[in-house]
Amino acid sequence: MAELRFDTVASAAGYTHADAEANQGSIVPPLYATSAQHFPSAAAMEAALSGQEDAWIYSRLGNPTIRSLEFVIAALDGYRVDAEVSAAVAASGMAAVTLATSPFLCVRGDEPMNIVASAACYGATFMVFSQRYGKERGVEVRWVPENATVDEWAARVDLHTRFVYAEIPANPLLSLVDVPALSALAHEAGAPLIIDATLATPALMRPLAMGADIVVHALGKAAGASGVSLAGAVVARHGITSSAADASMTDDFAGYLRRGPIRDMGALLSPFNAFTVMNEVRDLRRRMDAMSRSALTISEHLHSSHRVAEVFYPGLQSHPTHALAQQMVLVDSEADGGPVNRYGYLLGFRPVGGFDAAARVFDRFEVIWRANDLGRVKSIATIPAIATHRQVVAAASGGAVVPPDLIRLSVGLEHVDDLLDDLTRALGAA
Ligand SMILES: *Cc1c(COP(=O)(O)O)cnc(C)c1O
Repeated sequence: MAELRFDTVASAAGYTHADAEANQGSIVPPLYATSAQHFPSAAAMEAALSGQEDAWIYSRLGNPTIRSLEFVIAALDGYRVDAEVSAAVAASGMAAVTLATSPFLCVRGDEPMNIVASAACYGATFMVFSQRYGKERGVEVRWVPENATVDEWAARVDLHTRFVYAEIPANPLLSLVDVPALSALAHEAGAPLIIDATLATPALMRPLAMGADIVVHALGKAAGASGVSLAGAVVARHGITSSAADASMTDDFAGYLRRGPIRDMGALLSPFNAFTVMNEVRDLRRRMDAMSRSALTISEHLHSSHRVAEVFYPGLQSHPTHALAQQMVLVDSEADGGPVNRYGYLLGFRPVGGFDAAARVFDRFEVIWRANDLGRVKSIATIPAIATHRQVVAAASGGAVVPPDLIRLSVGLEHVDDLLDDLTRALGAA
């Protein structure tokens, strides 16, 4: 069969006609809501438990529904990547962040260790790095300010750097980093480059194709757009760079997580949640495409409004990393003749008048929802400084600065004119 295109990979989710025929003809991969596997005999059980036969055994160790989701996420992040790629899914995005990073902090004698990370990162990630790793384990955390140059990253990386970590696009100001350049300098120091690409999803950006070693997703966000379940994924190319780890970890990092940390620590995803996310991934690219078009229209509208002081959207020329976004953020539009840039569904804006005005605008939304969430089919707004980024704002010495009057808007699938009307009305009375 010819190499399948992104939409086809997403919609089939690795489930073949033969799989369906083995499942009473079901064209949807079934939900295996069961804790353990029955074996026909002692010999079959022994073969499974000794690892001679492929089996799932017990749902903490694996489950067919979870494996289906791992297969499709690996296929999408590994789409047109010139390397073998596999995935491990976990109970939440933060479980994935922890699983993707903590194995590299193995103690090696009294060797010092540091990690280099973009300060513009998710609040809970900031806490994992600064508190769990920094304060509790004594790891030196070297924060990199938002929109730093590659040289500023390079100045913090050395031979004791266990990993280099960036979230792109970064929430909430949506800046990007130069993934190929960061990957080169991380590899020179023997460290893996780990990218949290939650906001983009594999439909808009595939960092493994640009040299990253590991990608993290909070799958409960845009990948699982109706917001039924939380889930996380760690996706890794085979043969990652890490001078602190041995081949059992670097050969197939996602496989190592499945066979080791996930089963031992019990950070697994519920099969039910895997099933809901898998059903939502099927039309991921089309959804990202439609939501991104609306977000661009809204950003341009806000940008030209005299009631708005500043707009942050990577698709606007005024955005600090617009040029990088043009290189890295796209949807594959095989159907419309060639790749085109789409800049995602998330934007930020600062109404004229400071925090109080922003709060009044926020309170007047009637179509847009007020919640701490993003990537949904419903448009949702938040004020990050009082919500998701409280810790980051409090620790602004780390280099991340979130304007207190910033409204972050995650654009959904509503008709764009209804969203524009809601915004115009809310701003008009400000
Ligand atoms: C939400 C989010 C996470 C954490 O995901 P949870 O499923 O809430 O644990 C991590 N990174 C980014 C960028 C996120 O938006």
